[in-house]
Formats: sequence, C-alpha cells, structure tokens
Amino acid sequence: MSNKNFDTCVSFSLAKGAFVGRIVRLDKVLQDILQKHQYPVNVSTALSETSALAVLLSDALKYKGLFTLQLQGNGPVSVLVADVTSEHKIRACAKFDEEQLCKAKALRKTEDIIEQVPHLVGGGHMAFTVDQGPNTDLYQGLVDLQGKTLSEIALRYFKLSEQIDTALKLFVKAPQGDSKSFFAAGIMLQKVPLKGGVEIDTDDSAYNQMFDDAKAFILSLSENEMFNSELSSEEILYRLFHSLDLEITKETSYQFACRCSREKLFSTLSSFKDEDIRDMVEDGKICATCHFCSEEYIFNEDEFVKH
Ligand SMILES: [Zn+2]
Repeated sequence: MSNKNFDTCVSFSLAKGAFVGRIVRLDKVLQDILQKHQYPVNVSTALSETSALAVLLSDALKYKGLFTLQLQGNGPVSVLVADVTSEHKIRACAKFDEEQLCKAKALRKTEDIIEQVPHLVGGGHMAFTVDQGPNTDLYQGLVDLQGKTLSEIALRYFKLSEQIDTALKLFVKAPQGDSKSFFAAGIMLQKVPLKGGVEIDTDDSAYNQMFDDAKAFILSLSENEMFNSELSSEEILYRLFHSLDLEITKETSYQFACRCSREKLFSTLSSFKDEDIRDMVEDGKICATCHFCSEEYIFNEDEFVKH
C-alpha cells in the first residue's frame, strides 16, 4: 500500500530564497525496484540509499531527458546505478559478487548500515550524467569514492566541483520485524548565489549564520521523524525550519518504471558482431534479460545472424 507522505520530493527555500533545498522520502518506489531482483539485504539497502540520492540530485536540475547516478568500484558491489527521467520515473540496479560480499561481511566488525555504500563499492568513482538526447552536450560530474558515507562522497563533489555550500543528510532503513519494506530518504540544502537575477552576498555573516543554523537543524533530524509515515514532508520541514522563512516551492511524485522494450534490445543486439551473437545462442535462441527490471526477452538466432 502506498503512503501519501512518501515517494515524493518536496522543494523549499529558506531565508527569503537565499537557500534552496529538497526533501525526498521513498517507500513504494523502492519495493517496486527491489522486487524485480533477489539482492542480499545490504545490496538492497545500498541501492535504496543510492536511489534517494539520485532523486535529490536530479530534482535540483532543469533537464529534459535522463539523469543517471552511478557508483562504480572494485569492492564486492561493483555497480550501483539509478536513473531518473524528467517525467519522474526512476529505476535502479546493482552488480555484485556474492562470494566477495560474504567475505567482506565476515571481515566487518560492526553492522553500521549507513557506512556500507563506500565500504561495499570499494575504491572507484561516482558519476552523474544528464543525457538530453541527440545533438545536446552530455553533462557529467565525477568524484572519487573517498568518504565513509554516500553523503560524504556527494558533499565532496559539491565542494570540489561546483563550489556550492551544501548540507546533505541521507537515511536508509532495511526491513525490521514483520515489515519487508525498505525505506530511504534524504534532505539537501544549498546556498544560491542569485535571487531573481540579483546577486546575493552569501558570504555575509548573517547569511553564514543562518546557513549554519539550517545545517544544524538538518543534522538534528532523526530517522524516526524522517520515516514516520504519519508526518508529511511539509510538517518535517516546518518543524526544522519555521524560524528561517520556510517556503514550500514544489512537490513532485516519483514512480518506478523501466524503459526497456523488445525493440530497444533488438537494436542493441543488432549492433553486435555475428560471432558475438553466435556465442549467446542456446538451442537456436538468444535470451536477454533487462538488468533494471529482470524482464526476459527471447529472440531467434536467425533474427540476427546472416548465414
Ligand atoms: Zn527493463
């Protein structure tokens, strides 16, 4: 059952528009993504957190097309990827090595879920891309996976690449007790240099103080509040920021949807060399599975290979 307080991203501004932020809380979207896979709990948890970050980052951009957040590394989970369309459809998947995952688990002394993403993915990088279709420039941001948590890595990106003062906190919860649900959430706040085209002196000490206050409020937000299904995101924001000229600016709903199709897969396979296609054939058929939704597509060998 879906909860009206989840699967949305609510945008807001503080300090008369000097700071902008957003809060995302995911429930059904994650169950829809994860039920397509049989991932171990820690992989599902890491993918849930990655999905929440992908929504936060994509929702902050104006684009028409596809936003992709991808973590790639040399650890037991070699890929975590979530993509979000400008129509607010999200899908996500992971690639992992079961044996390495078990070994890494045995080596760990604590079970701190929040620390798991960089630990699981190992050394590598996190990339953001925005693809707006043919004849447009591909926007790409890249940061190495240095940090204990996924939010530390994202904050490092904003500091090094975009030089924007950012506050960010991510939350994730694996199933507990009778619940089989994963939850993930996040809140992000940034200083904006312009307001209505007029430059704001965000180095002004009053602004700095307000930003520090807002940051402290974000850090004080607890998992219990963030995952309380009785509380709307607006109520959480009001509790945190009522003293800082809070204004809610937008609310967007997100849904799981995969964009795979037989035609798309056919055109991908058609670009393969005959010998590669032959390697994939079993009993005259080629079976291809979508990584994102596990949908199986079956083709006949003679659809591709010219004898
Ligand atoms: Zn698919």
